[in-house]
Amino acid sequence: MKWGLIGASAIASGRMIGAFRGNGDEVVAVQSSGQAHADKFASENDIAFATTTIDELLAQPDLDAVYISSTNEKHFPQAMAAIAAGKHVLCEKPLAMNVADAVAMVRAAEEAGVTFATNHHLRNAASHRAIHDLLKDGAIGEVLSARVFHAVNLPQALQGWRVDNAGAGGGVILDIVVHDADTIRFHLDENPVEVVAMTTGQHMGQGVEDSVMSIWSMPSGVQVQTHESFTHAHAGTGIEFHGTTGSIFARDVMSQRPIGEISIRRGLDYTPVTFEAEDLYARSVRLFGQAAAGQGRPAADGRDGVASLAVADAVARAAASGQRTAVDYGGLL
Ligand code: NDP
Repeated sequence: MKWGLIGASAIASGRMIGAFRGNGDEVVAVQSSGQAHADKFASENDIAFATTTIDELLAQPDLDAVYISSTNEKHFPQAMAAIAAGKHVLCEKPLAMNVADAVAMVRAAEEAGVTFATNHHLRNAASHRAIHDLLKDGAIGEVLSARVFHAVNLPQALQGWRVDNAGAGGGVILDIVVHDADTIRFHLDENPVEVVAMTTGQHMGQGVEDSVMSIWSMPSGVQVQTHESFTHAHAGTGIEFHGTTGSIFARDVMSQRPIGEISIRRGLDYTPVTFEAEDLYARSVRLFGQAAAGQGRPAADGRDGVASLAVADAVARAAASGQRTAVDYGGLL
């Protein structure tokens, strides 16, 4: 598969180019809004063609797909252009700045018959797939509640638009709540209905929130509690599911890396759960390529990206209003 990169970003160079090449794919072009940055990125990452225009990128011979990892406000127009050119699209989260645009992207891709996916990495983690299997097999009985701990220390290098530019989609809600929404949907196989939330932005945020806590109701009656933050250097991440016959505790699993520990607790007994680690982004790319070839589906498709954005949007609205807020899936789910 021949890929073009839209956005000369840290995630592209740090995780995705290796995942594409590891899958046997080629990265043939990169687009960035500044030629100097595009050229430097291309040279550092051994990419033959660098441009500032989407049209030139999309016109590259035999280009099959694009990976969009620009800042969030650009995803919508860039994805629409790539879809109109008949390219498969793997788009970073959040898909767009609002649910209506994300729905339009998914509908356009479906009409064009191209594969469109959201790069939610966590459902590709072997740890989360092990948890998913445990839940499906009834290892803890009926699930009563879930808790997500995703309060991290945003590294200095990433403290640009994420902490001071609402127009580019900054803030912890669009950055991390979307991942937690996707992970909870993946595990519970249902969509949050209503949320309540509170934010703060007093440590790192400059005009955007840097921390949020929220509670989500699920159609089954399961209650979900989440905490996302850019400002917690020592908290570690994790996810817990509590059921009628046991609880699942997973630590350090809300991570880009294939790490973490899982155990099941029944009474005072803890039983470790093993899993075979695999690079999360490699799996995302592999499943995308198979889907584009007509086999199976991407790990997280466009509808999953709409759903995760819809939950984040509801969390933002709930925090702003102080009210219990319904999730609006834009008529897509
Ligand atoms: P970066 O800040 O590294 O890059 C985003 C954009 O900023 C680039 O596309 C480029 O803009 C511009 N840029 C970056 N560095 C420079 C530079 N040195 N000079 C000039 N311009 C520069 O973004 P991230 O990699 O942190 O995030 C990109 C996207 O990926 C976001 O949507 C984010 O939410 C998502 N993401 C997803 C992750 C996941 O695990 N799924 C993890 C991390 C990020 P332009 O495109 O205009 O040239």
